[in-house]
Amino acid sequence: MRLAGAHTHVRRIWTVELRPQAGGPSLRCPHCTAPTPSLEASSARSAALAHLAHHARTDALPPHLRTCQCRERGCYWHPRHRGCAGPVLLALTRDRSGRTWRLADTCAACTAATSHTAIVPDTLCSPHPANTPARARRPQTDDEHRQRVRDMLTYLASALPSVTSPAARLLALQCVLRADRHGSVRLPAGLLRGMRLHRRPEAWQELAHGGWLDLPDPRATGLRVRLLDDAVLEQALSLRIRRRAAHWVLRPTPFAGPSAAAAERLTALVLAAYSTPSGPAPDLATIARLCGHSPQQTGELLDRLVARRTLSAWHHHRDTDEVRWQPTPPAPGSPGAAHRPAR
Ligand SMILES: [Zn+2]
Ligand SMILES: [Zn+2]
Ligand SMILES: [Zn+2]
Repeated sequence: MRLAGAHTHVRRIWTVELRPQAGGPSLRCPHCTAPTPSLEASSARSAALAHLAHHARTDALPPHLRTCQCRERGCYWHPRHRGCAGPVLLALTRDRSGRTWRLADTCAACTAATSHTAIVPDTLCSPHPANTPARARRPQTDDEHRQRVRDMLTYLASALPSVTSPAARLLALQCVLRADRHGSVRLPAGLLRGMRLHRRPEAWQELAHGGWLDLPDPRATGLRVRLLDDAVLEQALSLRIRRRAAHWVLRPTPFAGPSAAAAERLTALVLAAYSTPSGPAPDLATIARLCGHSPQQTGELLDRLVARRTLSAWHHHRDTDEVRWQPTPPAPGSPGAAHRPAR
């Protein structure tokens, strides 16, 4: 893969380079003349993303003017595919060495065809958050929660190391949705018990080892952690709106089901986040990426959700890679029996 250089005068492509040096890598941006002070090696990835997101916010364009920058460069970022298709997304790509990072407007088809690429949610890069007090006060719909959770799972899939366990991903999701402006998060003991993730130091260690947060004090009642992820701190959405989404995650309709292993709960959560009547069905590669699994493991987890009667069926359309599923209808008279979206 080649990355577009600083000499290209295309508006919606930004690159930064992480230069190794004594005391931690420094970040070089061709748009910004002053080099940044050296970074902690472990947080370099999030620093690169935060810097690129800052440029995307500053150089905002109305959605109808955004075009696939990959196509405009002749589509040489990826092997040949059937052509541009789908919405224009913000795609984050690192080169093979992990030193150069690129953020660019790229169509869904080109994004999927480019290696080492993750989608960055627009909420991280949008200049005008729709954060009016009236909006923060009114009740949020299930579909709004779903959008938020999809955005954050998408973001975490690019920000966390690919080997991060499902338990650590579920904790990280609660952290990004509950973090204040300074990156501080308090997770009450009752919440962690409800998530069946209390006394799981190894999951916190994973997140700390990836340089994503400061390890919590295990002796404290409840947990207070500090996120080290710069991109998360610049979230556009208000804490009040994000906290409600964090609540929704604990009982994600239509899959607020019985207890299960963290891997199954994360898979059910991803399906719940895509259970919108109007949106397109996700493909198996997307579900797998958000869960941190291979597509084959994801298929096995979907089978387990059927065995558990969370789903009555699921189907993988091999030609499009789309996944469709059917939640198990609730027993008559049980809460939620009135409406269960199928997809
Ligand atoms: Zn810059
Ligand atoms: Zn392309
Ligand atoms: Zn394209």
